[in-house]
Amino acid sequence: MLVSSCWARISSRTCFWAELIRYAHGRAAARTLSIIKPDATRRDLTGQINARFEAAGLRIVAQRRLQLTRPQAEAFYAVHKERPFYRSLCEFMTSGPVVVQVLEGENAIAKNREVMGATDPAKADPGTIRKDFAESIEANSAHGSDAPETAAYEIPFFFAEVDIVG
Ligand code: GDP
Repeated sequence: MLVSSCWARISSRTCFWAELIRYAHGRAAARTLSIIKPDATRRDLTGQINARFEAAGLRIVAQRRLQLTRPQAEAFYAVHKERPFYRSLCEFMTSGPVVVQVLEGENAIAKNREVMGATDPAKADPGTIRKDFAESIEANSAHGSDAPETAAYEIPFFFAEVDIVG
């Protein structure tokens, strides 16, 4: 009786610390959705772009190469429906294979956008993916979620939880 109540107290404390560590890790290790766009896959830049993510501490915890269908591209970019470049963007995103991926790391969303650089490569900082690889403001080599709510929509758009292995 005494032994079992002692064990219950020890295991509930162990459980508490394990939960706390898991919680802290979950908070620190945020995730973001990244897409290597058709202009980059066409030039076989996937490896070079992935190396930049890893060098920046962004671990690739899920990855798949696929060809977006028109309805998929339209749904993914639905937020830009009213923008003048929407049709052209959807056309471009379906013009060749893309590599969709989940990146994980501390402040993953902001870190990824820093590594990608500004939307317009002409305005991107030196050493960023878009400065070094983008062909134009549209064919700008990489996509990254811009906020936690966006990542929460974009990650399940392509991946089930079991496909993401941290
Ligand atoms: P991002 O978050 O930096 O990707 O930029 P946005 O969310 O504003 O735009 C989404 C994507 O639309 C960009 O990554 C570009 O591929 C494309 N895009 C943005 N602005 C323009 C533009 O002015 N013209 C064209 N043709 N495409 C654009």
